Amino acid sequence: MTQHQTSNTHYDAVVVGAGFAGLYMLHRLRLQGLRAHLFEAGDGVGGTWYWNCYPGARCDVDSMQYSYSWSPQLQQEWQWTERYPAQEEILRYINHVADRFDLRRDITLSTRIVGGQWQAAQQRWRVRTEHGQEVSTQFLITATGCLSESRLPAIEGLEDFKGRIHHTGRWPKTPVDFTGLRVGVMGTGASGIQAIPQLAKQAKQLYVFQRTPNFSVPAWNGPIDPAHQQDWLQHYPEYRAKARSTRSAIMYDYGTQSALEMTPQERLEEMERRWRKGGTNFAHSFSDTFTNRQSNELLGDFVRDKIRQAVHDPEVAQKLLPHDHAIGTKRIGVDTGYYETYNLPHVKLIDLRKTPIERFDATAALTGGQRLELDAMVFATGFDAVTGALERLNIVGEHGRTFKQLWQAGPTSYLGLMTVGFPNLFTITGPGSPSILTNVIISIEQHVEWIADCLAFMQKQGHTRIDPQQAAQDRWVGHVQEVAAGTLFVTANSSYMGANIPGKPKVFLPYIGGFSTYVARCEEVVRKGYEGFDFSSPKAAERQPTASSPSA
Ligand code: NAP
Repeated sequence: MTQHQTSNTHYDAVVVGAGFAGLYMLHRLRLQGLRAHLFEAGDGVGGTWYWNCYPGARCDVDSMQYSYSWSPQLQQEWQWTERYPAQEEILRYINHVADRFDLRRDITLSTRIVGGQWQAAQQRWRVRTEHGQEVSTQFLITATGCLSESRLPAIEGLEDFKGRIHHTGRWPKTPVDFTGLRVGVMGTGASGIQAIPQLAKQAKQLYVFQRTPNFSVPAWNGPIDPAHQQDWLQHYPEYRAKARSTRSAIMYDYGTQSALEMTPQERLEEMERRWRKGGTNFAHSFSDTFTNRQSNELLGDFVRDKIRQAVHDPEVAQKLLPHDHAIGTKRIGVDTGYYETYNLPHVKLIDLRKTPIERFDATAALTGGQRLELDAMVFATGFDAVTGALERLNIVGEHGRTFKQLWQAGPTSYLGLMTVGFPNLFTITGPGSPSILTNVIISIEQHVEWIADCLAFMQKQGHTRIDPQQAAQDRWVGHVQEVAAGTLFVTANSSYMGANIPGKPKVFLPYIGGFSTYVARCEEVVRKGYEGFDFSSPKAAERQPTASSPSA
């Protein structure tokens, strides 16, 4: 909290979180003349890319696409160096944005929002920081991210373990050196798949504790191809528009044929071609990868063959073969030498389904009747995705309930933007929006712009309060589940389904109807006079302070 902030400080808008979403939101609010402030728990900007600085952390969306599209100048001036951007480079980019648009003066770092309450009398939010200070705001905008609430598993004795413990999603800012150490790593999702080859380079002994084998495709990362970069720089507006017209908001080479319409030879050639290109584009080999089990199985079989080819020991290869979920229904890893890492003599794969960790003691993990002596444990065990960070905010709505209390049977939200009972509170990439199923930066931009336009509309109309309608919200929640039910995604125990968090309701969290379809719906809502939303306007005399009358 900065010195000038007191409990009498009033803002037009408070933004929570300084990742891609929060920074752009702050910028837009300021452009509209609103008195806005951003609170961030970390001591730097960057959100996900601030916290996830584990070895090997890298985005699996092409560098030329994984960036803001709202500033043509920024887009032209930033030079990406690799095909897929590394965490350090993305963090440098975000810091550049914060400086270039002079955002830092309205950001308070190292300050977590730990509570808040709707003040009915004042028609405002009051939010509380971890340092015990409070501010009030007309609009509260969460930019807390879908993958920010990291989770350590509950394993007996972990608190007794005296070695180092790290979670990939809360990696220390100072370099961690594993040279010469005996290291355990748990989790083989996208993060684990990136970290394991890097940890193996340093550790004397690496034990990989795997619960569920996952699919991974090669990244073939390397220096960015200058011709590719030039092409994008020259065609940015056109390519961005194309990306927005797709279901993932990414310019992929989307397969147009069902696997079942192709001959075995055609299928094989198509999958090989995509494998050689690398990246998650591979998942789009067929038009029906995510809806037809047979097509999906053919793609999965191809990867299983690749795993058998890459891993020398057939028993180890067998353990690594994904078997319990359709390919793509858990995020596919994009790796550099992941499967080959298991050929190294000091890397040992432990199948937790056969030999779970019974407990930790001060120096070891006890599993399958063995003591595995460890100097460090790395948890790549993921996040309470999409809803975790919102629930942790501990914001009490108009009816006296928090998101956590309200969402016992699954999140309720209209368009992933607002929830009944939480007036004037917008959730960027909230549950029921495309978010993590897309190039999330593009989804963020769409939400930020929708919210900014909505606030401008309210200002123009003299409205001071917006609420989603119950019926509109109910319809949207039903639609989100109905669309998901038509895909194979609902068959996997994934974080998309909340299945990785004990006790979390098993419902599909993001909207899988496609980015372009979603945007069309959001635009239609606006065209129809903000269909499904209610606005209210107090009498002029009772109006709250506005942008032009800051009252700090
Ligand atoms: P994740 O996909 O949820 O994977 C977590 C891993 O930990 C899984 O293998 C899971 O096994 C395991 N695990 C969880 N709890 C466990 C327990 N109690 N005991 C044993 N194993 C346990 O998390 P993540 O890898 O951090 O990835 C999260 C998301 O971040 C991804 O979906 C992706 O959206 C994003 N991400 C992207 C990139 C990229 O762009 N390249 C990189 C990293 C992350 P089960 O499968 O059995 O649950």
